[in-house]
Amino acid sequence: MRLPNDNFSVAENAIGAQSRDSGHDTLALGIAVAAIFLFVGTGSSALSQVIHAIRGTGVLQNPLIALAVLLNVAIILFGWRRYRDMSHAVLHHCAAEAEARSLAETDVLTGFLNRRSFAKIADQMISDHKGSSRFALVMADLDRFKQINDLHGHAAGDAILQETASRIALVLPANALVARLGGDEFALLIPIDVARPERVDQLANALIDAIAAPMFVKETEVSMTVSLGIARSDCEIEPNAQSVTQALLYSADVAMYHAKRHGRNCYFWFEAAMEGELRFRRELEAGIRRGIEQGEFVPYYEQQIDLKTGKLTGFEMLARWKSPTYGIVNPQIFIPIAEDLGVIDVLSEQLIAKALQDAKAWNPQLALAVNISPVQLRDPWFSQKLLKMLVETNFPPQRLEIEITESCLLENVSAVRAMLASLKNQGIRISLDDFGTGYSSLGQLRELPFDSIKIDRSFVMNLTEGKDSATIFKTIAALGEGLGLPMTAEGIESEAVLAELQAYGDFKGQGYLYGQPESGAATLERLAALDLLQTVEPASVARPEPAAEESADRLNRSAARG
Ligand code: C2E
Ligand code: MG
Ligand code: MG
Repeated sequence: MRLPNDNFSVAENAIGAQSRDSGHDTLALGIAVAAIFLFVGTGSSALSQVIHAIRGTGVLQNPLIALAVLLNVAIILFGWRRYRDMSHAVLHHCAAEAEARSLAETDVLTGFLNRRSFAKIADQMISDHKGSSRFALVMADLDRFKQINDLHGHAAGDAILQETASRIALVLPANALVARLGGDEFALLIPIDVARPERVDQLANALIDAIAAPMFVKETEVSMTVSLGIARSDCEIEPNAQSVTQALLYSADVAMYHAKRHGRNCYFWFEAAMEGELRFRRELEAGIRRGIEQGEFVPYYEQQIDLKTGKLTGFEMLARWKSPTYGIVNPQIFIPIAEDLGVIDVLSEQLIAKALQDAKAWNPQLALAVNISPVQLRDPWFSQKLLKMLVETNFPPQRLEIEITESCLLENVSAVRAMLASLKNQGIRISLDDFGTGYSSLGQLRELPFDSIKIDRSFVMNLTEGKDSATIFKTIAALGEGLGLPMTAEGIESEAVLAELQAYGDFKGQGYLYGQPESGAATLERLAALDLLQTVEPASVARPEPAAEESADRLNRSAARG
């Protein structure tokens, strides 16, 4: 069995190639050897005569023999040179062939085997030990590796993969086989020690720990984690698979996706029930891609209310997928998948463009809030793209608010700060969503240019259900007050919670008490009934909307309850 980089096959191939090619120069060697025998047999006495004749100390008795001796010496020299040249050529050829084979068999970046050679050697190993040994195939996939490439560039991504490979090599037992299958995917074939089967679990934990240790990219610390799936060679072999290794790779892949869905940075052994989950996930992925092409993602709108006055102040856009297969799908299902697939930016841009069009028909006093994924905030062109959409729809930036969650701040706060500053320069407002659920320090939050914060609904919904809930809410609200920013309470479901909030302080609020999120058409109907539709097309993006007294009056009349 092989360790990475041991180039076993290179040496084997070199020997093989050499023996094949050595036939060519046997002839040259044979001629030289025959000439030497002839020379030893007949030439030695004649040679001394030739030397004496050349020196002038003797006479050449038979010039023909002398000529034959000289010819013999020339043949020996020629034969020897030819043999040496051909040996060089053969060695050179062998080395080139061995290198070509090595390139075909190994992954250049890490020195590990590649997918093809791994499958071949693993099949051989498993069949050699059939009946005597069992193997575990471990599939390892780095978590959110795409973000490293997007954020730090491909050279940094390559460096991370090399570092990962050397950490795997350190943890790997000497009798294991390892490969990089492509991208950020690695596979390990490990013989299971029947006396100590728990060694595979220990190895999985050791791999997880080794990769979770800090890595550095151009002196910036990045934290990588890995998800693992493990399949055993003595069960669950798919009968239709091309080979045992292909079947194990498939099962380990299924288990690895299960680990991804269960929080990442962990491992799972394959179980047959996981297969259904993966198939469903694949269907969803294909459906999301198709849905984006077909325009199946639509904005819904949830009312936002000033709790003191009861006025409608605007709407939060919440994405919905009108899937022909699954019906109306909530964003908690499809947003994380769209992020993983790398299509969240296209999806979100489609939704925002539709929402800007919808909101242009509303009273210009009404704001539009949109949620932005952390993935989008990492796109250096994001604020330009947003501005382009605003210009194209002729929508005033002052009416737009973007909501970002604390998870956006987890990495690269300075890049996020620059992005938020650029958005604010355009007049867009920024709110911190789901406040209280993240781990950001107040100092960190104070440094960022937020205009408001939204207290997560988990703190609001149960506000009246006991002293503890009220205390927690008040603690969170006090933290928000410490930041000196207006607050919105999410998830108001009852009059009792509303009354509590009104008594506690100045909040904006939203929740099912005011109605469930509605489609664009239903929102228009609601606004038409409240006489809150836009009557005149806004003149230009650059100018803020004039605060028309008439529309303010209408807003005052709209104690908008669903
Ligand atoms: P969020 O931004 O915190 O949105 C509020 C969520 O709470 C919405 O769920 C809303 O329907 C729900 N909600 C509002 N009031 C109540 C209430 O009184 N009780 C309860 N139980 N729930 C209430 P939804 O629409 O499923 O959205 C979930 C999350 O998905 C959003 O949380 C937001 O983070 C994300 N999301 C929605 N649309 C988009 C989008 O276009 N892009 C991105 N990146 N994320 C989005
Ligand atoms: Mg939100
Ligand atoms: Mg929220």
